[in-house]
Amino acid sequence: MAAAAAPRRCQWGEPRALGRAVKLLQRLEDQCRDPRLAVGPPSLRDLLPRTAQLLGEVAKARREARGDPEGPGGAGDFLVIYLTNLEAKGRQVAELLPPRGKKDANQDVFREGSRFRRQLAKLALIFSHMHAELSALFPAGKYCGHLYRLAKGSAHTFWREHCGGRCVLPWAEFQSLLCARHPVEPGPTMQALRSTLDLTCSGHISVFEFDIFTRLFQPWPTLLRNWQLLAVNHPGYMAFLTYDEVQTRLQAYRDKPGSYIFRPSCTRPGQWAIGYVSSDGSILQTIPLNKPLLQVLLEGQKDGTFLFPDGKNHNPDLTELCRAEPYQRIQVSEEQLQLYQAMNSTFQLCKICAERDKDVRIEPCGHLLCSCCLAAWQHSDSQTCPFCRCEIKGQEAVSITPAQERPVEVRTAADDSRDNCHQEAAEGKLEPVTPSAPHYPLRIRPPESPRQRLADSGYEWL
Ligand SMILES: [Zn+2]
Ligand SMILES: [Zn+2]
Repeated sequence: MAAAAAPRRCQWGEPRALGRAVKLLQRLEDQCRDPRLAVGPPSLRDLLPRTAQLLGEVAKARREARGDPEGPGGAGDFLVIYLTNLEAKGRQVAELLPPRGKKDANQDVFREGSRFRRQLAKLALIFSHMHAELSALFPAGKYCGHLYRLAKGSAHTFWREHCGGRCVLPWAEFQSLLCARHPVEPGPTMQALRSTLDLTCSGHISVFEFDIFTRLFQPWPTLLRNWQLLAVNHPGYMAFLTYDEVQTRLQAYRDKPGSYIFRPSCTRPGQWAIGYVSSDGSILQTIPLNKPLLQVLLEGQKDGTFLFPDGKNHNPDLTELCRAEPYQRIQVSEEQLQLYQAMNSTFQLCKICAERDKDVRIEPCGHLLCSCCLAAWQHSDSQTCPFCRCEIKGQEAVSITPAQERPVEVRTAADDSRDNCHQEAAEGKLEPVTPSAPHYPLRIRPPESPRQRLADSGYEWL
């Protein structure tokens, strides 16, 4: 495989292409110095140097990794697609911006609300997705796309079963795989699906893009129905809108509290940002933490926060999709129960507060704790798991039936019901847990093996 991959990379000239991309970004950065382009996120002035730096790190890591085995859909293929796309989008940015020092050039791009300004904002969003994607697949420059763990367990299983270690595939191939599981009508609906999924507009779908999509439109069993309801039919959905643009759009509804619109967040990929007019007429934007949007909108409808999507009187009914409360069961072995008993504890007791029972599972690492501890932890700490430091990309409500000598039953509120990946991962992998449970709110060092092995496998039951 190494022998086959290396010549292809040489032919394409990956090192030169990386160098060219860095130079292009530096030129664009120079063109973006006008203070009128200092806008809220996503800001090209911020994204261009960060992307250039990361590409520099990628180039360095690739030089060091020369000759490493690499299959199709791996780092080399990804970079061909990524750099080609980066060049194309970079050219579009360059064309919109007046060349430096040319005072008589077209200044329309600086005018709020102009077509050029809008195009630039959309390109900034694409650059923001491209930066997030590169950071996810090449953290600190080093490729890990084959190990990337999707937040939603079912989505992870789906990708790895169908795509193996690949991190990217052409849209046409991805489309047929997805549609075999979640049918979609061909034609305009399929086009719309592609534009929602292909965040970087590269004509390909990466494991990162699929992760973001499945987090945004969870739960998995009704993934494309959720997408259709939220992104195709819902008047409140805004595909490409920045923070500033949401503020501007909601100005029109200031005298109509309960008006709202929602968009995928660009600062927190995989989460939603909802802008709304509050009861006193002010415009607020909120990012609900790790809850399915369907549920958030339904709650907002009940309490009067989200009533009028984009100012319209009709609020779509989402109850149908929120009604399902499937659950899964996880069998805990007899030894496991005895083990907790030997530690004078129980499986279900939260190991942080040792007061309440666990009722939430962190995604993607799978650690269990109680929601009070998780909320307090997220408030005081960054978005990382208190047990393993893995990024918290989602959470799932669970309720554990107290077990005597019988297996423990875990009931989940919404997601992953038809897929037993958590169960499969848990079976046979439960290993003794040392009694040295973390003490909130102390920062916890990553556990040593064998707990580390469990953390590596993504599932540990503390
Ligand atoms: Zn707790
Ligand atoms: Zn964890």
